[in-house]
Amino acid sequence: MAKVTPSRQQYLDIKAEYPDCILFYRMGDFYETFDEDAEIAARELDITLTSRPTSPGNDNSRIPMAGVPHHALENYISRLIERGYHVAVCDQIGDVTGRGPVERAVTRVMTPGTIIEPGLLPEKKPSYLLALVPVGNVETGTWNKAGLAYVDITTGEFAATQLEGPNTGVLVLEELARLNPREIIMPENWTQRGVTLPENIHLSPVANWRFEAGTTEQALLDHFRVKTLDGYGLADLPYGVCAAGAILFYLRETQRNSLAQLTSIRAYSTASFMVLDQFTRRNLELTETIRGRSTRGSLLDVLDRTVTAMGARLLRTWINQPLLELDRLNARLDAVETLTGDAALREDLHTALRSVSDIERLTNRLLIGKAGPRDLLALCESLSIVPDIKALIGAMPALKALTDRLDPCEEVYDHIQRAVTDDPPAVMNAMGTIRPGYAQELDDILHQTRDARDWIANLEEVERQRTGLPKLKVSYNKVFGYYIEVSRAQAENVPDDYIRKQTLVNAERFITPELKEYETLVLNAEEQILEVEKQLFEALCHDLCQSSSRLIQTARAIAHLDAFLSLAEVAVREGYTRPTLTRDDVLVIQDGRHPVVEKLLDSGTRYVPNETHFDPDTRIHIITGPNMSGKSTYIRQVALITLMAQIGSFVPADEATIGLVDRIFARIGAQDEIHAGQSTFMVEMVETARILSGSTGHSLIILDEVGRGTSTYDGLAIARAVIEYIHNNPRLNCRTLFATHYHELTELPAILPHTKNFNVAVAEEGDSIVFLHRVVPGGADRSYGVHVAQLAGMPRPVVERARELLAQLEEDGSDFKLRPADNSKKAKSNGPAQLSLFDPEPHPAVETLKHMAVDELSPLEALTKLYELKRMADS
Ligand code: ADP
Repeated sequence: MAKVTPSRQQYLDIKAEYPDCILFYRMGDFYETFDEDAEIAARELDITLTSRPTSPGNDNSRIPMAGVPHHALENYISRLIERGYHVAVCDQIGDVTGRGPVERAVTRVMTPGTIIEPGLLPEKKPSYLLALVPVGNVETGTWNKAGLAYVDITTGEFAATQLEGPNTGVLVLEELARLNPREIIMPENWTQRGVTLPENIHLSPVANWRFEAGTTEQALLDHFRVKTLDGYGLADLPYGVCAAGAILFYLRETQRNSLAQLTSIRAYSTASFMVLDQFTRRNLELTETIRGRSTRGSLLDVLDRTVTAMGARLLRTWINQPLLELDRLNARLDAVETLTGDAALREDLHTALRSVSDIERLTNRLLIGKAGPRDLLALCESLSIVPDIKALIGAMPALKALTDRLDPCEEVYDHIQRAVTDDPPAVMNAMGTIRPGYAQELDDILHQTRDARDWIANLEEVERQRTGLPKLKVSYNKVFGYYIEVSRAQAENVPDDYIRKQTLVNAERFITPELKEYETLVLNAEEQILEVEKQLFEALCHDLCQSSSRLIQTARAIAHLDAFLSLAEVAVREGYTRPTLTRDDVLVIQDGRHPVVEKLLDSGTRYVPNETHFDPDTRIHIITGPNMSGKSTYIRQVALITLMAQIGSFVPADEATIGLVDRIFARIGAQDEIHAGQSTFMVEMVETARILSGSTGHSLIILDEVGRGTSTYDGLAIARAVIEYIHNNPRLNCRTLFATHYHELTELPAILPHTKNFNVAVAEEGDSIVFLHRVVPGGADRSYGVHVAQLAGMPRPVVERARELLAQLEEDGSDFKLRPADNSKKAKSNGPAQLSLFDPEPHPAVETLKHMAVDELSPLEALTKLYELKRMADS
């Protein structure tokens, strides 16, 4: 075997410790990757794949290599992390000695859920790492319990819970939808079974023992330096503890610091907030749109007028996690109402908040030892504004709790003020961070330097006088340092203590022992000063960390204020009103609007407000109307108004009384473009089934064109069966809006007393129709499909022909109204005239296929048949 060079061996040893990471290895100005890592890096990052000999000159054996310039590392890493890779960065930590390779070590491991570099993180979104521990039979893949914990290491948020019951899988998916973690860790025996997660979430398998009860509990006890976890409410959540402990282990391996930012952990129950599954979040476009997945056009986009990143993150969390507690909601609404009443105050608060930096993440950087001098200045400046903010809102009773939590942390402010200069370097690699007068030690060195500098500055004059040589010069160069220069002619006259250093054509250069002494002082001074400044800075940061919990508390209070202010600002601008919240199952909305659609309408088009009135006797509203009339918009508007009320926002309505709902379910009938590649109808049915099993009498269900993904009869039958089920099941019978263009369903209220018909009005104008977007009681009597086709710009002959066919159908009395579900098959095979009209004569290939006994064919026969069919199809 070829002998491995010491450098290569060093690389291989380090790589062996990080087999799952792409290792970036510092060599000069580059970070290099080798072997398989290089192949991946070259492919994923579009960088050149080169190679180098395993030993100098040995061109027969080369290894792949791909590198990136050191200053661009972050950018490249972020692309790898986005794609789910883990990355380890190996730096040179020793000095170049010339003997053997420079000492190197991995200084950072990054995975999607554990990055803290500001440049790699979206500032307005939390960045969660989540641990999931299924409890059940891994052999069969069944589980009825799960421990779940999540952490945002950029803010120190750390929480754990436990989910139980036959629906555990669904509950977990709902939590994943709420938190949208960047990375999930799970015991590897479960991941080996194959786990399907929502897209964009990266799964990292972790050794099973990292989740064991004893070790994880001990890890948490040690980390928080406590004797019991009861104080965090974790006593009854043993699996939550397993998940939280596993997170600690994982972070320790990747973060390589003390994790000081994790100062506490919160036990929580999913029962304290509204359940929203991923389909509902998506369909209601809470934080991103269905098409394009952009924030623009989402509810968040309308509500977010925050000015700090902390406020933006909090508002996003609120939207993702509506509350069920009346008192908390009323407290939020009180705060928003107070702020809506005072435009000047809002303006002043906005101005103040604009100067506040991300105290939450700054404090976090302080705690993990990554804060730079300018971070401290930003912190200091932010704190200087807190007293102004307190003064502005101090008199408001609704904001009292918040004012109390706003702590200006004077000692932090004073200390930074005293210690840090006004214009320090960004990182501690140059002097100039610590203010003179702050520490005697530094002042002494500055003083000494000053003396030495003065001495050298005066030297020329002093020596000219001493030697009587008026042209004597004192200069500096990198090779000799400071020296005294005289002309060749005068070189004979220099004093005895001059030591000759260099002879030039016209001049001689000298030094003196005293000069060299001062020189050393001056040259070493910068290095020393930097060293002392570093120590002082570290001590300063350490001292500031003592106030971290108060800083975090202030940060969160500011986030709340910013979020309230945003909701108030939007409420005023958009004309929202305060909803009245109750625990009864009512829902009454006067002149409600869709918060997003009303803003996106072309100028000149007015949004038509609509009323909603659920009373105990009519819980299920069937909304009919032609396509494009506004059914979807209307039912989503009701869901969004309810959700907005339950985050503590004012709502787009003239008046609203909202009985708190425990879940909102929103389903849209099959949409081909969304579920490409799957059976769209199947997806639609799976989603609907989940609603029927997951909702309670206090839920709000909105169903939009459910059943659309199949034939008319099947669709009608399923739609009716779903309505009947909600209506007749005592566990459900909850507030439901069912939008459909099957006007046949309007017959249901005659047999189901809790259902009521509404339709979105249209006005007929000759052959055409005008959408009025007004929801009125009663069912639509026609579908107006042909009219809509005309409005959509279908060629005139097609519209005319459709009209003709429709008239023919109506005349023939082709009746496909509300047949029972079990007749649907028969009905389908008989074929409604409308469908069969477009069915051509069966193709011979199809006929052959129908009669083929597929199971009895050998592979070769099957192939032959396939050719035959292809020929038929082509002929
Ligand atoms: P449907 O679900 O009945 O097919 P949509 O709800 O998708 O119809 O609405 C179609 C379009 O009509 C929307 O994109 C919107 O521009 C407009 N629209 C809907 N409701 C209203 C309204 N209340 N006021 C004004 N325009 C509306």
